[in-house]
Amino acid sequence: MKKVNALGTQWIDFSLFILLFILFVCVIAMNRITTTHKVYLAFHFIMMLWPLGQFSVKLTDFPDVQLFLINLSFVAMGMLGPGWLFFVFFLTNRSLQLKGLRVFAYIVPAALCVVAALWNPDGLFMTPVGDNYVERVYGPLFWLLVLVQFAYLFVALMNMFHALKTVSSINLRKQLATALIGMFVLTGFGLLDVMVNVLLTEWLPVIPGMLALGILLSDLCFVIAIYRYGMLDILSLAQRDIIDHMTTGVIVVDENDKVLEVNRGASPLVQVVQGETFEMERFLAPLQVRGEVYEFLYRYNNHPQEKMQMEFSMQDPVGRHISIQISPVLDNRKTLLGRIITFHDVSELRKLVVEMNRKNEALHERNLELITIQEELFRVNQKLEQMAVTDGLTGCFNRRYLMQQLEHEVLLNMRYQIPFSIFLFDIDHFKQINDKYGHLVGDEVIRSTANIVRSMLRRTDILARYGGEEFTVYLPHTNREQSELLAEKIMQAVGENRVDAGSEKVHVTISMGVLSESSEDLRFNDPKEYLREVFSSADSALYKAKNEGRNRVVMAL
Ligand code: GH3
Ligand code: MG
Ligand code: MG
Repeated sequence: MKKVNALGTQWIDFSLFILLFILFVCVIAMNRITTTHKVYLAFHFIMMLWPLGQFSVKLTDFPDVQLFLINLSFVAMGMLGPGWLFFVFFLTNRSLQLKGLRVFAYIVPAALCVVAALWNPDGLFMTPVGDNYVERVYGPLFWLLVLVQFAYLFVALMNMFHALKTVSSINLRKQLATALIGMFVLTGFGLLDVMVNVLLTEWLPVIPGMLALGILLSDLCFVIAIYRYGMLDILSLAQRDIIDHMTTGVIVVDENDKVLEVNRGASPLVQVVQGETFEMERFLAPLQVRGEVYEFLYRYNNHPQEKMQMEFSMQDPVGRHISIQISPVLDNRKTLLGRIITFHDVSELRKLVVEMNRKNEALHERNLELITIQEELFRVNQKLEQMAVTDGLTGCFNRRYLMQQLEHEVLLNMRYQIPFSIFLFDIDHFKQINDKYGHLVGDEVIRSTANIVRSMLRRTDILARYGGEEFTVYLPHTNREQSELLAEKIMQAVGENRVDAGSEKVHVTISMGVLSESSEDLRFNDPKEYLREVFSSADSALYKAKNEGRNRVVMAL
C-alpha cells in the first residue's frame, strides 16, 4: 500500500470532498422527508466515521494528520450513544419529547466526552506510543467516554424494552425487536473491542476492526428493519397512523383467524389483542340468532374467500347499529392469506334513515289528506257551479245561464243552418193563487208546473226560469210545426195538472208565445242583439196570448 507522505496539493480534493458533503447535508436537510429519515442518515454518517478514521490513520506517517483522524474516530464514537438514544425516541414514536433543554441534556455528557478526547489534557485521554498515533495508550478520560457510551446504550435499551411492552402493532414490534438486536450486537462488539484491544492488549494480539464490525452488524439490523418491516417507509408510517386514528374498527387476522393487527377504533366493540384468535361466533353470540346472522356466520366459516357484509344492533343500552364487513386478503394465486374485518358504527345513519322514513310517512299521510281535501273542494266547486246556473225553487236553469248558452247555440244554428224554437210562457192569474192560497202554495204551483213541462221535453232542450212565474224553453232542431204541436201539448198538460192546497186541489193555465226560426233566414252579426230581438218577439206573442184571453199559444211572426 502506497503511503501518502505529505498533504501537498491534496487539500484541493479534500476541500471538494467537504463541499460535496455539505451539499449532501443540505439536500437531506431541505428535502421533505420525515425527521426520522434525517436522524437515521445523520446517525448512519456518524457510524461510518469510526471505521473511516481507524482505516485512514494507518495511511499516513504525519502525527498531526494521524491525530486528526483519531480524533474524528473518537468524535464518532462519542456521538454513537446519543445517536442511538435519539433514534430510539423516533422509532418508538416519542420524538415529541425531544425538545429544547431535554435535547441539550441528552447531548451534554457525550459532548463533554468528545471535548475531553479532543483536548486530551496532559495525555489523560490517550498518549501515543513512540512517535505516532497508530498505537496508543488510553488514560482515564477514555474510560469515562466508554462508560458514558454504555450509559447511553443502557438508557436507549430501557426505552426500547418499555416501548416493546406497550406497542400494539406486530410490525412495529418486529421493527423494535430487530433494532434491539442491533443495539445488543453493538454493545457486545464494543465490549469485546475494549477487552481484547485495550485491556488485554499485553496478552492478546490486536484484532483490528472489531467495533467497526459491531457497527456494521448493528446497522445491518437497521437495514433489515427498514427493508423488511418498512421502518422508514413513509407510506406505511402514514397508513399506520391513519389506521390507528380512524373511528372504524379494523382487525386483521391470518388464515387461522389469529389477530395480526387491531386498531384503537375496534376496542369499544371487540375485546381482542394481537396474537389471540378472533372467534366470530363468540363475537356474534350475544345477538339473537336471526336468519341473517346465521347465514352470515355460515358464509364466514365456509366461504372465507368471499367479501361479506352485515348490519346488526349491539345488545347495549344505546343499541348501536354496527356494520361489519369482511374482506379477504388473497395472494395472486387466490390463496387466502388472511382477512380484514372492519366495524363501522352506522347508528347515526340508521337514525337518519328512520327519521327520514318517519318524515316520509308523515308526508304521505299529509298527501292523502290533501287529496281528500282536494276531492271535497272539487265536489263543493261542482255544487257551486251548479248552484250558479240553476234556480233554487224549481231546479231549472236560471236566466243568466240560458242567455249564455243561447249566445253560443244561435251561432251554431246560423253556421249549420239548424232550425230552433223558443217558448216563453207565464202562469195565468197567478197573483190570485198567491192571494187565495198563500205563497207556499204559489211556490208549489210554480215548482209543479216546471216539473210537468220538463217531463215533456227532450234532454237537449233547455228549460229556464225567466223570472217570477215566467219560464222559457229553448228547443234546438225544432221547426215551426213541431214547436206549435209541442206548445199545445204542454199547455194542455199544465191545464190538467193538479196541485194540493190543503183540502183543495189547485190548477192553473198558462199563456205562451212561441218563436220559431227556420234554417234559411237565420242571419245576424251580434248574437246578443239578435237574442234581444228574439225575446222581444216571443214576449209580444205572449202578451198577445194574454190579451186574447189567456190559456193559449200565439206564434210570433
Ligand atoms: P197574468 O195572467 O196577467 O200573468 O196575471 P198574474 O196575476 O199572473 O200577473 P203577473 O204575471 O204580473 O203576476 C206575477 C205574480 O207572481 C206577482 C208575484 O207576486 C208572484 N210571484 C212571482 N214570483 C213568485 C214566487 O217565486 N213565488 C210566489 N208564490 N209568487 C211569485
Ligand atoms: Mg202571470
Ligand atoms: Mg208574470
